[in-house]
Amino acid sequence: MNEYSKGTVCVQGGYTPGNGEPRQIPIVQSTTFKYASSGEMGKLFDLEAEGYFYSRLQNPTNDRVAAKIAELEGGTAAMLTGSGQAATFYAVFNIASCGDHVVSSASIYGGSYNLFAVTMKRMGIDFTFVSPDCTEEELNAAFRPNTKAVFGETIANPALTVLDIEKFAKAAHAHGVPLIVDNTFATPINCRPIDFGADIVTHSTTKYMDGHGAAIGGAIVDSGKFDWNAHADKFPGLTQPDESYHGVTYTERFGLAGAYITKATVQLMRDLGSVQSPQSAFYLNLGLESLHVRVKRHCENALAVANFLKNDPRVAWVQYPGLEGDKYYDRAQKYMPNGTCGVISFGVKGGRAAAEKFMEGLRICAIETHVADARSCCLHPASTTHRQMNAEELVACGISEDLVRLSCGLEDAEDLIRDISQALGE
Ligand SMILES: *Cc1c(COP(=O)(O)O)cnc(C)c1O
Repeated sequence: MNEYSKGTVCVQGGYTPGNGEPRQIPIVQSTTFKYASSGEMGKLFDLEAEGYFYSRLQNPTNDRVAAKIAELEGGTAAMLTGSGQAATFYAVFNIASCGDHVVSSASIYGGSYNLFAVTMKRMGIDFTFVSPDCTEEELNAAFRPNTKAVFGETIANPALTVLDIEKFAKAAHAHGVPLIVDNTFATPINCRPIDFGADIVTHSTTKYMDGHGAAIGGAIVDSGKFDWNAHADKFPGLTQPDESYHGVTYTERFGLAGAYITKATVQLMRDLGSVQSPQSAFYLNLGLESLHVRVKRHCENALAVANFLKNDPRVAWVQYPGLEGDKYYDRAQKYMPNGTCGVISFGVKGGRAAAEKFMEGLRICAIETHVADARSCCLHPASTTHRQMNAEELVACGISEDLVRLSCGLEDAEDLIRDISQALGE
């Protein structure tokens, strides 16, 4: 379906039923698949034939939804994972192991930061965190001989910084490693990181792709563009025989288009098992069918709310990369000219107490640790996700005591603005 535009791919990509087959992607609610002989099944275990044998590795429902996401991102292959966290972990761990090093933007999702700085560090992988606004010199200085990847977020959750994808891709490629971009907030509707040089794209599909707060999930997409063979010594897992599959070499057997996702599926999913259920994949696909329509509306609502907040004397400051005058506006225009995301952060005049009072006064926007839902929601990080930090620590990680994160849903913008205005009080 590569000849179709994104909206058409959202609706019809990944699955084309034959005569008399279900119009909707069927939920294949089966852990296992039947074979007539052990010999036929054995070929699957040796990766000599394609097919399904156990849903921890592959399932037809998941594969069709993954194929749609690959088309949307302009990649050659994709896989679903049980959560965004699993996608981030697999994407990095597929090419970096004990003794290796990764360069990451410091402005990333808190869960990703913890995964890198604590859990993967315990596994022997070192991370260097750089500012998303660092100079090329600073970025290049972060690399080491054992660096295996660069990681960043198109629009960071919750900091709302915008990654200079071309700059990060250029540095990654100059050092012979791929750029991995978490594209959760922008979605492929607003930005396709692969078009700007990213090699691998990850998603928490829990957010806009699902879009209805219905199912946790993740996805990894490979562009098929990174030449593992040109840097074979750095990536032996892809370019040298895998003894757990009778000596298969992924780049030889599956080519650059398929090597990375095949390895992640048959090794990491086989051994670690963070699988998405076919039922969740079905919900995810329902979300994808309207992604292009919803994302546009989320962005329109967020821009209307951001403009209202910017001009309201009860509000101390507003941060939204789609808002003219924002620190990241120009970069967002370059990478996301049609819109950014539905999430805004802003400060309520009067500090922590005023922010808490404001949120309790909201009627449409619910207090949740979620974003990117059809229903508007908000969070006061200083008293929830970051409550263990004192005022100084909050400042150090870019979160002020008055900060409210607001995820604009799909309601009518006038109602959202009226709700926010009444909650801001006199
Ligand atoms: C939520 C989120 C994640 C983690 O995804 P889960 O589905 O919650 O595991 C990763 N990256 C970003 C940008 C997110 O917003």
